[in-house]
Amino acid sequence: MRFDVITIFPELVRAYFDESILERAQKKGVLDLRTHNLRDVTTDRHHTVDDRPFGGGPGMLLKIEPMVTTLEKILGKSADKKKRPATTKVYLMDPGGVQLSQTVARKMAKSKHIVLICGRYEGFDARIDAWVDGKISIGPYVLTGGEIPAVIVVDVVARMVPGVLGHADSAKDETDVEAGFVEYPQYTRPEVFRKKSVPKVLMSGDHKAIAEWRRKKSSHV
Ligand code: SAH
Repeated sequence: MRFDVITIFPELVRAYFDESILERAQKKGVLDLRTHNLRDVTTDRHHTVDDRPFGGGPGMLLKIEPMVTTLEKILGKSADKKKRPATTKVYLMDPGGVQLSQTVARKMAKSKHIVLICGRYEGFDARIDAWVDGKISIGPYVLTGGEIPAVIVVDVVARMVPGVLGHADSAKDETDVEAGFVEYPQYTRPEVFRKKSVPKVLMSGDHKAIAEWRRKKSSHV
């Protein structure tokens, strides 16, 4: 699966993409994670990506031309929404968007190619709406930029892509708050730490008893 993140701070995003599980998945060829600096497509001397809002008011907005030019660079003809395949999606990171959840992520994971646009300052020139398939919020609060939200979206969706997690069963039995399920507690070595022991049943080798204990210890809200 491919993700492209459009941002004025690509190194913030790359720092997360190029470690651990996401890094391994890219090496394996399961994920293709690309970042694009909005400034790269600007033609003026100062590489201007933002400007003041018409009508006045505080702060700056990301300009429309660099965003659309970058989309065209990434998507070619599919930058045009009418020519975009159903498996390619463009989303704005936006605190007013649809709130990310496991269900929203599962729907997103059906795409083959996702482009995420990160806002900064006061947000975007609203004409960008004509190029996007949706707006995603990571929660009911406002951050200074869309980079952390974009990284969160990529991370949540990527771990649903087969081959990304080391073990095929890792995503099984996981906490799914929407479904009212919280995973059972887990322990690793040492068996005793500062007089606190691991529950005996987990050492018993009795797989039926362990499964039963885990079932009881999971919460079904
Ligand atoms: N003036 C805007 C907020 C701008 S915050 C408003 O009132 O809606 C700057 C940028 O950070 C946004 O454009 C968005 O890309 C990102 N951002 C901030 N909070 C976010 C959130 N909860 N979810 C997703 N993106 C967010």
